[in-house]
Amino acid sequence: MSHPGQKIGILGAGESGVGAALLALAKGFIPFVSDSGVIKPDHRSTLVANNISMEEGMHSEELLMNSEEIVKSPGIPDNAPIVLKLKAKNIPVISEIEFASRYTNAKIIAVTGTNGKSTTTFLTYHLLKEAGFRVCMAGNVGNSFAREVINDDFDYYVLEISSFQLDGVFNFKADIAVLLNITPDHLDRYDRDMAKYTASKFRITRNQNTGDRFIYFMDDPVIRKSMGGTNIPSYRLPVSLHDKPRPGAYVDKDSLVFEFNGSFIPGFTLSVADLPIQGPHNQVNIMSAVIAASCAGVQEKQIRYGLKNFINFPHRMEIVGTIDGITWVNDSKATNVDSVRYALDSYRSPVIWIAGGVDKGNNYSLIRHLVQSKVKAIVCLGKNNSKIFESFKNDVEHIIDTDNLRTAVISARALASPGDVVLLSPACASFDLFRNYIDRGDQFREAVKDLYGIKTT
Ligand code: ADP
Repeated sequence: MSHPGQKIGILGAGESGVGAALLALAKGFIPFVSDSGVIKPDHRSTLVANNISMEEGMHSEELLMNSEEIVKSPGIPDNAPIVLKLKAKNIPVISEIEFASRYTNAKIIAVTGTNGKSTTTFLTYHLLKEAGFRVCMAGNVGNSFAREVINDDFDYYVLEISSFQLDGVFNFKADIAVLLNITPDHLDRYDRDMAKYTASKFRITRNQNTGDRFIYFMDDPVIRKSMGGTNIPSYRLPVSLHDKPRPGAYVDKDSLVFEFNGSFIPGFTLSVADLPIQGPHNQVNIMSAVIAASCAGVQEKQIRYGLKNFINFPHRMEIVGTIDGITWVNDSKATNVDSVRYALDSYRSPVIWIAGGVDKGNNYSLIRHLVQSKVKAIVCLGKNNSKIFESFKNDVEHIIDTDNLRTAVISARALASPGDVVLLSPACASFDLFRNYIDRGDQFREAVKDLYGIKTT
């Protein structure tokens, strides 16, 4: 571990790298930021304003090799040549989460999973915040953890943590860890090996001991299988849609039931109809967030209050509106098959499904039965839609090819009848036609409003 006065190399100048550089400076180190791409203007000005040395378009080996320690941004793979060279010199390479965790004694609630991290992190934060806790949300949402611990004004941090961040944690410990699901995604970074990706996700429980809590979705087959072979000492609080774990949380008819075996918190139930976000996946997210908040000491009546005024981030099954009986839903953040599976499963009405973009090795057979039973028509939205065509051409009545949102929305309108849902849930990344998923979702919202002549202010 490095000591003040020593050099810290920081690979990557995104939010995580800039946060790490500012923290390093605040703690008396000499940070050097190196990015092989172009540094965004706002990040560059922060570094300049703080007199932090930096370079872009390259990694200067001699400078980096002089570092006592390297903080690597999550976007840089472990097998990048510079990382391999640094490791070969035995220079420790850690993640920004690991680095930041050294500088706070606050309690940490850490959320990971393939899908649902942002929603669950945000809801957990919201429940603590509304209950009057001094709480900060950081990690993949909001500011980096490193930037936040500079002032360290909080009793709790709720952190959204990706597998890439987890790969670089060693002494980090979550007081409350949440693991939502593990389904194939980002496998290009794990040698296409699910076992490696799974091991990375399970690092969320690293260093936990008997006084800590581990909340996990026990129906997930990968989690269930892996739990058998692990020796996690923390107090386990599973969540289920199908079983009735005790202690834990589960769905019983029209309620979510929280049972803690009279251990440290009294149990209670919540009516599904009153929940602020819908669908089985969101029940998993809510159960996880509510248990996490309960473990932190949020009382039942505060939880009810917090749930009442929760509004999720946009682009996650966001209802754009119901117009002429057709409900338009923006789920642009659904960039893999599993999130689409949950989205389709959330509707009883026929769905016009808008899907497509950059395929990440999708296995569409996983949702074929759902498409057959729920989807009336598919509007493909991408530069190359052949895979979706091939996968579903025999399963739906209509399948249409488009390469821009305006045409996609007009086509969907022509296919929809009152009572139907038009769902943008692409199962793919967005960068063939859009800047990112936010741009795609925003364009969808605008196109729907334009179609109906609704003015936006
Ligand atoms: P993440 O931060 O992990 O990407 P988000 O909360 O942003 O998760 O949601 C991403 C997508 O996954 C959205 O389309 C959302 O509807 C879907 N989703 C949310 N929670 C879950 C879950 N628990 N399981 C599967 N899909 C989910």
